[in-house]
Amino acid sequence: MPHVALVAFTGLRVVDPELRALGLSLPGLRRRGEAIAALPALGLLTVAAHTPEHWSQSYHDAPCFDEELAERIAAERPALVAISALTASIEEAYALCAALRGRGIATVIGGLHATALPDEVLRHADAVVVGDGESAWPAVLGAAEQDELRGEYHGSAFDLDASRMPRWDLLPPAKRHRYTLQTARGCPLACEFCAASRLLGPFREKPVARIRAELAAIKALDPRAVIELADDNTFAGAPDPAPLLQALKDAGLPWFTECDHRIADHPTLAADMAEAGCAQVLVGIESPVRKYAGMGPKAAGLARMREAVERIQAQGLPVNACFVVGADGETEQSIDALGELLQDWPSAEVQLTLQTPFPGTALRRRLDEQGRLLKDRTWKHHNLFEVTYRPSHLTPGDLTTGFSRLVAAVYAEPMSRRRAQIRKKVLRSPLNVRE
Ligand code: SF4
Repeated sequence: MPHVALVAFTGLRVVDPELRALGLSLPGLRRRGEAIAALPALGLLTVAAHTPEHWSQSYHDAPCFDEELAERIAAERPALVAISALTASIEEAYALCAALRGRGIATVIGGLHATALPDEVLRHADAVVVGDGESAWPAVLGAAEQDELRGEYHGSAFDLDASRMPRWDLLPPAKRHRYTLQTARGCPLACEFCAASRLLGPFREKPVARIRAELAAIKALDPRAVIELADDNTFAGAPDPAPLLQALKDAGLPWFTECDHRIADHPTLAADMAEAGCAQVLVGIESPVRKYAGMGPKAAGLARMREAVERIQAQGLPVNACFVVGADGETEQSIDALGELLQDWPSAEVQLTLQTPFPGTALRRRLDEQGRLLKDRTWKHHNLFEVTYRPSHLTPGDLTTGFSRLVAAVYAEPMSRRRAQIRKKVLRSPLNVRE
């Protein structure tokens, strides 16, 4: 029986020592990093559902490469090792490939980074999956079985009507608590900085009956499961959110998701989400200094965004508002102005990241054409917390310092305590039907 080992590199590691020290000393930041690292790699668990029965399979996740990981995987004598990695951890994936190929073990890498840069991946792995994994997986396994795995394997846009149940059962029991579940793939919008929206094909939604079945399977595995919807923008395409919300409500599990601020335009959507168990919604406010190309109807001024946050929270649903720092036009004054704005910003949580030109994005293409990508910033620096390009009005060093100052103030005790109080108030809202 051939064996495939599935390996996920999870988590974000900040390389810059100053920011790293800051992150370790700020509980809010550390908790968010740990929560992200705890999420299972849904792409691998999804292709695992398409593995024929005559294969055996195992799932490993690791924050980074080390020889012990390579030894552990090699000991399984796999015919294939399939790796998924974010851009920030792709160098860890390449190190694992080198260690495994040195032992004569075939490797394949898939995911967003691999889809954007297949030639680069092929310098390290035997094969690369470009596009959706489900449709490429049978050819990858067939080639590995024949000892002929090499080159690009292209996956066409997979029809989510044909989705199979992700193999959450492959997760070690200690890892089973937060489960990722996808209700849609991609996003109908195309923000300039976003790689997720189109790289894997057009926007598609999963039938609600499939989602119900997946929720039931997760609940059977773990009645106390917490669900993270692995969507780029939930409800962005749904003309009627009610069937999905009813499925989530019937499952009776707490869930988190990402939406854009337009959910506030619906008279009861936020209240309905809260009633269905949504514990917090992440809303991209994006950059206060630049309207990115491709934001379409999501583009709005800060006043409208603020009002949207207030309307969502008035319905009993806490908001994690995400701001991007470092867009063209950013200055030391605009960073300080954002710090002041956040002193009385209404959301229950705030997420601050630096603009990051990920491969496959229009933003990266533009900065590359303008000669503004910093050559010494390798992929491990593309972790949302480090400067990887020359800003328009600041030096890279000044942007780093300004961002560190902002992060230190926003996640320090007084502002964190204020947000915790807002969260309590939102959850006590008379409109919160969970009470
Ligand atoms: S709305 Fe969100 S998911 Fe959609 S393109 Fe913009 S950043 Fe990406």
